[in-house]
Parts: sequence; C-alpha cells; structure tokens
Amino acid sequence: MLSLEALKAKLAASSFDLYIDGEWTPSRGAERITVDDPATGDPLTTIAAGDAADVDRAVAAARTAFRTGPWPTMPATGRAALLHAFAAAIEADVDALALLESLDTGNTLASVRNGDIAMAQQFLRENAGWATKLEGGVPMTTSGTQGLGFWTREPIGVVGVITPWNAPFLMMVQKLSPALAAGCTVVVKPAELAPLTALRLGEIAKQVGFPNGVINIVTGYGHIAGQALADHPDVNMISFTGSTAVGKAILQASGRTNLKRVILELGGKSPIAVFADADLEKAATAITREILFKSGQYCAAGTRLFVQASVHDALLARIGALMDDAKIGPGHEPTTNMGPMISEKQRQRAESIVDDSVKQGARIIRGAARREGPGYFYEPTLLANVTPSMRVMQEEVFAPVIAAQAFDDDMDLDALAALLNDSSYGLSSKIWSSTLGTVHRLARKIEAGLVVVNGGGGEGPMPFGGFKQSGYGRENGRAGIEAFTEIKQIRMAF
Ligand code: NAP
Ligand code: MG
Repeated sequence: MLSLEALKAKLAASSFDLYIDGEWTPSRGAERITVDDPATGDPLTTIAAGDAADVDRAVAAARTAFRTGPWPTMPATGRAALLHAFAAAIEADVDALALLESLDTGNTLASVRNGDIAMAQQFLRENAGWATKLEGGVPMTTSGTQGLGFWTREPIGVVGVITPWNAPFLMMVQKLSPALAAGCTVVVKPAELAPLTALRLGEIAKQVGFPNGVINIVTGYGHIAGQALADHPDVNMISFTGSTAVGKAILQASGRTNLKRVILELGGKSPIAVFADADLEKAATAITREILFKSGQYCAAGTRLFVQASVHDALLARIGALMDDAKIGPGHEPTTNMGPMISEKQRQRAESIVDDSVKQGARIIRGAARREGPGYFYEPTLLANVTPSMRVMQEEVFAPVIAAQAFDDDMDLDALAALLNDSSYGLSSKIWSSTLGTVHRLARKIEAGLVVVNGGGGEGPMPFGGFKQSGYGRENGRAGIEAFTEIKQIRMAF
C-alpha cells in the first residue's frame, strides 16, 4: 500500500477524467476543479468539471447498456456474482481506499475503514442476495376462470445517483448496490468536494468486469452536472442524498421534465432525550462520539439535546470533558478522534449559526470557535440555555455542535415529544432511559424515520429514511431495492 506521501505525490501527478461507457474520457469543456485536503487546505489534484454535454454522453451510454444488455437481461445470479466480486475487490483494496477517503474527506481512518467501507461491502452483499429474490405475484382466481392475470417487476431503467461529500464512498455504494442488483444502469455525480473514492470505484468496477455503460461517473459542479442529470429527459430515476434545498430542486426538476422517480435522503436536526434514569456515562460517551464522528457532518447526528433537569448539569459537564479529551487532527493520523470540516465555507456557516445563537443568549459550555492554524478545524462545541427559535435549534449546522436545554423532571411525554418534534426535519432521534414504558411510549410519538434507544442494537441494514423534510422514500432492504423497479400488471386471455 502507498504511504501518505506517496499517495499525495501520485494524486498530484494525476488528473482525473470522466468514466463513460467503460472508458476514461476527458470532459468536452476545459474547466478543471481543484480537490483539496481539508486538514491543510492544500490542493491534492484536479478533476474534470463535467457539463450537460458530458451528462448526455453518460446517459446515452447507460441507456444503450440498459436496452441492449447484457446487464438487465442476464440471469440475476450473474448480477449477484458481479456484486460479490465488487465487494471482494473493495475488501482487497481496503487500506488504500480508507487512506484515500480519509485524506479527501478529513474523516478518521478508523471510521472510514471499519464504518463506511465495511458497511459498503455489506450493502453490496445484501443486495447481491436480493437480486435473485425480487418477485411479482399471481392473485388467486376462481376455478375455471378463463385467462390469467399476474404482476411482475422490471428494472426502472437509467438511474442518476447524486451523492454528498460527507460519506462519499458509502453513499455511492449504498445507491449502486440496489440499483445494479435490480438490473438498472447508472450515472453517478459525486460531490465535487470529495470525489476521489468515487473515481477509484470506477476503476474497481472496470477491473471487476461490469459491462460497459452499466456504471458511468461524471464529476462536476452540482448546479451544472447535477442539474443536467436531474433535468435529463432520458433518466428514469434520481437517487439523491444531500441537503433539503437541493432535494427540493431535484423534485422540481422531475416535475418540470419527465416525472422521473425520486428518492431523497436529506438533512436532519435530530433530537436526543436523556432521562435521569439512563446510564449517563454511556449516554455522554455515545452523544460525544456521534458529534465527533465526521466532525458532526453526519445527517443522523444527535444535535438537539434535551436533558431531564436533575441530571442536566452533570451530563453537560461530562460531555464537555469528553470533548476536551478528543484528539483533533488530520483524519488519516491513526490516533485522531475528530478531523477537520470539509471546507472553509462550511466552517464559516457553522460559525455564523453558533455566533447568532450565542448573541441570542445561548451559553457556551465548550468550543464555539475555530481552531487556528491550517485546515478547516472547528472546536467541538456544546451550547446550553438554547431556545427553540435559535438558528442552532432550527438549522442543520453540519459541524461538531450540540445545543442543549433542560426539561422538567415531571414533564409529561406529550409535552416532551412536542419539543423533540419542533423541527422541519425528521431523520433520526435518540432516547436514553432505563424505563421500558417511557421508551416505548416516547418512541411512538417521535416524528422521525429512526429512533435509537440506549445506543441502539440489532444487525444489518434496515430501511432508512426521513419523515417530514428529511426525505422521500427509504433505502436498504426490500423497500430499498423495490424502489429501483416498476411494477407491471399483465392480463392474458386464452
Ligand atoms: P448538497 O449541497 O445538497 O449536495 C449534494 C449533491 O448534490 C452534491 O453532489 C452536489 O454537487 C449536488 N448538487 C448541488 N446542487 C445541485 C443541483 N441543483 N442539482 C443536482 N445536484 C446538485 O449536500 P452536501 O453539502 O454535499 O451534503 C450535506 C447534506 O447532505 C446535509 O444536508 C446532510 O444532512 C445530507 N445528508 C443526508 C444523508 C441521509 O442519508 N439522509 C446522508 C448524508 C448527508 P456539488 O457538491 O458538486 O455542488
Ligand atoms: Mg476533498
């Protein structure tokens, strides 16, 4: 495996093109986008700024591969075998992939290697299993009925995959796995801020032997390449993960053009409820770890903390102390607990939201400042005395920032649920309590696609997605792959 210095030298000497129809090909336009290292701000390499003409070429290749095969027409076991081979090739390359993703995103090496890349392999293998298990149905008919009616599923066609920068490798594989298993062909538009592992996945796909045109990758700006994909009249579906604002633009693009199907995994502002009877040490550790993970740039992170009054001060003191202990540095250094944010723009946005909230009376327990020096580092931040109207309680900060407030020890669960649900988002939520009845009753009242109790449990991917403005549709599992199919009813007389 390459050392960090060798990897940087290799990237500096490379200039990445687009992956269309099984070939690396330059963009028709001359513009290049510089990709930087968020831990230093230094340039790493450049990528092509794909435009609408490039998206056209990629969609045409995907359409030809869809129409003429062999992808949608091969036995499902053949597609499953290639998905397993893809997972095995990722496994063989895991160290290099982890270093590349960590360098590009700033996420810690351990979180990328043991989290994102491990989960990505799970998604590939799980969906390889689903490839052979998609079914239609035959309703029972009265004996002697002339004819037969049944329904079947077909792959939806050409899918546009648009991904964010915070977990670029995982998001791309999470979407590719069910799309490919179902027999679709894809055009991927990765985020321009962290596109390098997406491009590496293109190389791996070529090496594994996916037929030409099945996977295409067009790097470029969201408002140009992403928009061209969302507007394209020959794209059947967009699977998007990113911000709520861009999700709305994609839904509008669908309505304006060809009513392409849309799956949206959007932002979050997830509440955490901590009761006095919880294991407070465990809660403090998990809450802190989650906000350090990806420097708080994690859609499902718990960011609005509601604590029962009698344990409020103790819990906040403990979280503050754990934040003090965190080792902050480049993600690719093995001892780092938290890396940089992705860009200066994101850091300034976080600063502005935190500063506004402090001006309105939020109390700083810890942080609320950038870390001086190179790179886009922001201190882990804990604010108390927040009120519902503050920006830090309403807007997704996407930074290592937790906003806390106390709730009365005798507050009833409906009133607490109203506090937790006071957000336009509904992606995730967390409850910490050792009373089963409290947990059950509150879980049912929360408006979110995910409720994590006492740190969570279980195994394997389950349907994931948001309520309210956190999204549209579900990823993973049966619902996740069925989203990439159309149902067709067939009625025959004989
Ligand atoms: P973003 O700004 O919405 O961008 C996401 C992707 O959309 C990028 O590839 C972007 O390209 C592209 N894009 C931008 N404008 C577009 C347009 N007009 N048409 C089509 N595509 C366009 O989000 P982000 O800042 O990368 O990611 C952070 C957001 O993602 C947060 O809100 C976070 O909560 C959300 N997220 C959600 C989940 C989930 O599962 N629910 C998971 C992870 C992240 P460029 O980057 O090149 O502009
Ligand atoms: Mg980068």
